[in-house]
Amino acid sequence: MTAAAANCYCGAVRASLDLSEAGALHCHCSQCRHLSGAAFSTWLNLPKAGFRIDAGVDDLTVFTVSENTARHFCRHCGAHVYSTDIREPDIVGLPLGIVTGDALPQPDTHYYFDSGVTWCDVALSANKAGGATGQESLD
Ligand SMILES: [Zn+2]
Ligand SMILES: [Zn+2]
Repeated sequence: MTAAAANCYCGAVRASLDLSEAGALHCHCSQCRHLSGAAFSTWLNLPKAGFRIDAGVDDLTVFTVSENTARHFCRHCGAHVYSTDIREPDIVGLPLGIVTGDALPQPDTHYYFDSGVTWCDVALSANKAGGATGQESLD
């Protein structure tokens, strides 16, 4: 088991993660950009069985993003803690920036890269993907 932890900004919500089957990616879709305010969101995806909320279950509230997806965030500090998608009920996604650990997965792909902003000047070395699904190779 590769352990990691996650917490919201104020610390009310804390979670433990098992990263054995986790992966990471960057997403440049307009939903990620508008919900984060950033050029792209970096996600950690893992099986729900590897995600445990240790504190603050009652401090979480939910925003229904679409008919499929929901964002769970801290009602005190507003930090996004995790997201769920009914199309992938056994997976949770966490913004990688709230996760700490010694062996975090390296994001390997930029999804929806062709939907991204033009002003991002960060060096982007991972694979690029786009098209209708956001996952078709652009490299
Ligand atoms: Zn908080
Ligand atoms: Zn996205």
